[in-house]
Amino acid sequence: MATSVDPSVPSSTDRFAQPDAAGHFGPYGGVYVPETLMTALQELGAAYETARQDPAFVEELRHHLKEFAGRPTELYFAERLTAHCGGAKIYLKREDLLHTGAHKINNAIGQAILAKRMGKKRIIAETGAGQHGVATAAVCAKFGLSCRVYMGAVDMERQALNVFRMRLMGAEVIGVEAGQKTLKEAINEAMRDWVTNVRETHYILGSALGSHPYPMMVRDFHRVIGLETKDQIMAAEGRLPDEMIACVGGGSNAIGFFFEFLDDKAVRLVGVEAGGRGITRGEHAARFEGGKLGVLQGCKTYILQDSDGQIELTHSVSAGLDYAAIGPEHAYYRDQKRIDFAYACDDEVMEVFQLVSKLEGIIPALESTHALVHGLKRAKEMGPDEILIINLSGRGDKDVSQVQQMLDLKEPSSR
Ligand SMILES: *Cc1c(COP(=O)(O)O)cnc(C)c1O
Repeated sequence: MATSVDPSVPSSTDRFAQPDAAGHFGPYGGVYVPETLMTALQELGAAYETARQDPAFVEELRHHLKEFAGRPTELYFAERLTAHCGGAKIYLKREDLLHTGAHKINNAIGQAILAKRMGKKRIIAETGAGQHGVATAAVCAKFGLSCRVYMGAVDMERQALNVFRMRLMGAEVIGVEAGQKTLKEAINEAMRDWVTNVRETHYILGSALGSHPYPMMVRDFHRVIGLETKDQIMAAEGRLPDEMIACVGGGSNAIGFFFEFLDDKAVRLVGVEAGGRGITRGEHAARFEGGKLGVLQGCKTYILQDSDGQIELTHSVSAGLDYAAIGPEHAYYRDQKRIDFAYACDDEVMEVFQLVSKLEGIIPALESTHALVHGLKRAKEMGPDEILIINLSGRGDKDVSQVQQMLDLKEPSSR
């Protein structure tokens, strides 16, 4: 399936989905950075444009996605979940089976080989829960690149195991003590580093966010998810699905999963945000539930902010969805009414995390569980002749100790 991992293959959706020259998807996206980074982003955009049209780059990408990351991933029929819901046939796209445990490796590989082409030997990255940091550390080890990962001090404490993983693979992990000491501050610090060391450094941004060309480029590196899914569902069912559901933090797994289906108007596409403890200020990370247009970290999009433009506190049980801004392409397709959005709350996520583990023998990442929560609701409403595909963006091994602690607090007698 050589074509299935090929970001240079013109898609039927390309004409409808390329940003303009300044990186805008409608009113969203763009480039909002200091002068010094403008040049770096233009250089990156030009290098990416050349690379994606170069068969040698495409072949190298294909090779590493297969040999190192473990593509293609299965499209798995979840028989017991389907029976449990009693409605639509439920399939899971198994990105959880990839090396390092989540979809993030698709993008990390793509950007690392691009950095090599550009002659950059030093890689920096930000990470929240640590999944992107681990993926970046792994590809840097593989390609012999030096790697520095910025991580909020609070996240380093919460995700100590991922910090150790990164260090084992040779990455330097730098704790960020500013502000809330989480993802937003880590991105600020990474951007500061990039401005200073831009000549020898490439910044591997981990989601479909930030300034152009990142949202487009990160999307392209994840398009393989949807390309494979389309082939696989045609092989399994001989037709396209009725609905597809993915969780949305910055939006990279969702846009990669959805992209090949944008022109298939009969396929309903739904992104699921983090409803946290409920839709009250500071208690959630659902940008389409009260977010407003603004600029954050180089990108114009929907942002959770107060009336003075101050970024609001966010909360989610899953660190990977806990961010105040959403990828600009999602905001655009929401306006176009092509992607719908829903949210799932922490307590529903905790329940479905356990349910899916028990029924399918698959422990999903808390992020992916948001998509499962909404998916199970939808499956019950749909008929048995309908098909639903949920993107299982990652595995939950990283989350088990957090969930264990939360369950112990809730019902100490039961375990
Ligand atoms: C990081 C992460 C997410 C959220 O990021 P997106 O860019 O929205 O995909 C979702 N699921 C998993 C497993 C992650 O690690």
